[in-house]
Amino acid sequence: MSETGSQPAHQAGRSLDPHLGRYAARTAGMTASEIRALFAVASRPEVVSLAGGMPYLSALPLESLAADVGQMVATEGLTALQYGSAQGTVELREQICEVMALEGISAHPDDVVVTVGSQMGLDMVTRVFCDPGDVVLAEAPSYVGALGTFSAYQAQVVHVEMDDAGLVPEALRQALAAVRASGRRVKFLYTIPNFQNPAGVTLAVQRRGEILDICAQHDVLVVEDNPYGLLGFDGQTYPALRSADATNVVYLGSFSKTFAPGLRVGWVLAPHAVREKLVLAAESATLCPPAFTQAVVSRYLSQHDWKGQIKTYREEYRERRDATLAAMDQYLPAGCAWTKPAGGFYVWLTVPEGLDTKAMLPRAVTQRVAYVPGTAFYADSFGSRQMRLSYCYPTPERIREGVRRLAAVLEGEMDLLHTFGTVRRRTLSGAQTPTPDTA
Ligand code: PMP
Repeated sequence: MSETGSQPAHQAGRSLDPHLGRYAARTAGMTASEIRALFAVASRPEVVSLAGGMPYLSALPLESLAADVGQMVATEGLTALQYGSAQGTVELREQICEVMALEGISAHPDDVVVTVGSQMGLDMVTRVFCDPGDVVLAEAPSYVGALGTFSAYQAQVVHVEMDDAGLVPEALRQALAAVRASGRRVKFLYTIPNFQNPAGVTLAVQRRGEILDICAQHDVLVVEDNPYGLLGFDGQTYPALRSADATNVVYLGSFSKTFAPGLRVGWVLAPHAVREKLVLAAESATLCPPAFTQAVVSRYLSQHDWKGQIKTYREEYRERRDATLAAMDQYLPAGCAWTKPAGGFYVWLTVPEGLDTKAMLPRAVTQRVAYVPGTAFYADSFGSRQMRLSYCYPTPERIREGVRRLAAVLEGEMDLLHTFGTVRRRTLSGAQTPTPDTA
């Protein structure tokens, strides 16, 4: 037996996983998101993180919430601490219908399923609709958490072009034709029409009917993900896709951005038959959503000025958006371009040709600023010239400082590019390789 070639697996190196042969094939699609890998470094206090999309919870009235939760346990504890219905409490589902009415949706509480965040809704919808190899259409770029879910169920994502007015209807037609010609089946269009994550753009109202018509003509379901719809900076809302089509749209909502993500309360509104399948899927995952956090949200909606709280959030985020755009105008070098969000949390930045946002991230973190590289938001590794900047959490002063640092990083990269004709690529672990496409 040679010393090297035939070591038992447990001695060959700690990276060998003894369970490797046991995992289901679908685990191949379960990979850590680029955002997760980043959190550890980006959360150091000296780093201005424009990476994570964490709501600005300091805007919440914590003391009165605490009093309310205490009172809720004292008066409703026997139900709030008990198992509940797989679909969620009737009281909360009725309140959710009132929330959705703000975006023109008329719905019955029977068709609402309460979920553990809208992320669970995404998981359930994908589980119920997608077999391995099925195609999901998604905007280019799209929400990293949704891409992770589609990949975990071995669905293939085909991206559809967006412009400043959101998804491009003609590009949707072309994508549908191309997938059909390739013999594959499109199960649904996944879209975030309002203040999109990560691009910050909003689907023009004039395009909404056309998108719905195209999907109906091609027998493709629409999955509308709308966690940011009430966070328009001028208080503006847009008619939800679901408000115009109750039969072919599955709608995902969340209290994560309008109240608090730690509660993990979201929902799915679905046509009746789909709703029944979703309840079964939910039951097998969690038995029932937490009665406790549902009771907290219900009480919050009935006792607090929740619309006033959303207005407070909007004002905080508008101030941060303004600080971000002003700093970008002031500091970023020529050749950069970015979106101008009218709501939500994100700006999408395109950097000058020849730069690679993933490769330069370690240098940015060294210079104490973090962002998410654009490739995280594509299933096909596009996006190397893009990055997402989140302005929701840092103060306006920190945002300005972060953008100033980012500008210095970009200038440094451009200097390297001009001097050497290439930017040395360095991975997060520090290894260096030349960037082939920047010569
Ligand atoms: N969809 C989108 C577009 C999001 O941005 C997020 C959170 N970043 C989610 C879904 C998941 O939200 P939650 O599970 O907290 O409701």
